[in-house]
Order: sequence, then structure tokens, then C-alpha cells
Amino acid sequence: MAKISIPDTNLIYNEIHALFPNARCELLYDSDFHLLIAIMLSAQTTDISVNRVTPKLFAKYRTISDLSNAHIHEIEDIIKSIGLYRNKAKNMKALAERITNDFNGNIPSSQKELESLPGVGRKTANVYLSEWHKIPRIAVDTHVKRVSVRLGMADEKDSPEKVEEKLMKIFQEEKWIEIHHLLIFFGRYFCKAIKPECHQCPLLPICTKPLL
Ligand code: SF4
Repeated sequence: MAKISIPDTNLIYNEIHALFPNARCELLYDSDFHLLIAIMLSAQTTDISVNRVTPKLFAKYRTISDLSNAHIHEIEDIIKSIGLYRNKAKNMKALAERITNDFNGNIPSSQKELESLPGVGRKTANVYLSEWHKIPRIAVDTHVKRVSVRLGMADEKDSPEKVEEKLMKIFQEEKWIEIHHLLIFFGRYFCKAIKPECHQCPLLPICTKPLL
């Protein structure tokens, strides 16, 4: 198991916070329903791509009821520039129908019920709970996993759930929401998968996999 000292943990938080003091959710939304849809759409694609299609999507489907009554091909047509759009369109409509029929039209707020919705896995539920309800969660996406491994907080073979578990032990609960955003920003804009900025990285002294 990866081990990391408290000083290194503080260094990671302080240095990434200094680089990205305004790290936050970059998805655009104007309601809990639209946030959940935006998070679903962001699976295996960039937030920028999602933000390009959601203004039109949200204007057409303002409510859960609008979406549950939508025609699949019309949803597909709006989101077709996004990866896996057919599957996502199907899940979006099924999710709206399920919330309408089983939850009185209200998005459930428990992890278990959220994960029972079509197209909603642990990561989507975690992002939704932390962003909308401000419930401490660390959602593990590709950036969070890569950065955690490079900085010695997780192992390459770890599942996202295992990385989440390790990060929740490493960081204090009151920092979970923020550290989630910090690790995403650091991975998205600095410690990138290809050509990370190792030559100017403040965390180079503790990095386990610098690419110099
Ligand atoms: S030294 Fe490079 S790989 Fe390591 S954390 Fe910094 S940017 Fe990432």
C-alpha cells in the first residue's frame, strides 16, 4: 500500500492550492437536475465538450418531466458531438422516467438511491452529492487517479474505489470536496497524462514518477 507522510500531504494540498486557488466544478448548470445530467454527460469526455451542448439541451428540456417525455432521437441530435452519445441519451431519458415514477419527480439524495438510477455510477453520485449538497466526497476520475499514483498516494493497480478510500484516509474530511477539485485541476492543466509540467513542478521532490 502507498504510504505518504503528513508533511507531504500538507505540501500536496498547499502547492496545488497555490497553483489553482479557484479550482471548482467547471460544468455549467442551473438546477440539480441539469447538474446531474451534465455530470452523466461528462463520462469519458471533457467538461468543455459537455458545456458546448448543454445550453441547447437544458433550454429544450428544462424539467425532469420534459426529458422523460422527450424522443430519444431528439436528445441524440443535440448531444451527438459527445462520446457515447447514444448510450447517454438512452440513460438520460430512462433516468428522468425513473425519477418521475419512483421518486415523485425529485432527485434522490442518498448515495444508494442515486446509484440505482440509469447511467449513475459511484463517481457521478459522488460528484453530484459534493457539488449540489456539499456532502464531503472524493470522486475519482482519470485525473484524480493519475495524480494520486504519481504523488505516491495510491497504486497503479488500485480501483477507483480503492483510490477514493486511500484519499479519504490521507486528507481530513473537511478538505475532501476541495481536494477533489484541486486534484482534477492539477491533473487537467499541469500534471497532464502526456507531457506533464515536471520541469516546473513544485511537487517534483516527492513525485514517484516524474517524466523529465
Ligand atoms: S513532477 Fe511531473 S509527474 Fe510528478 S507530480 Fe509534478 S507534473 Fe506530475
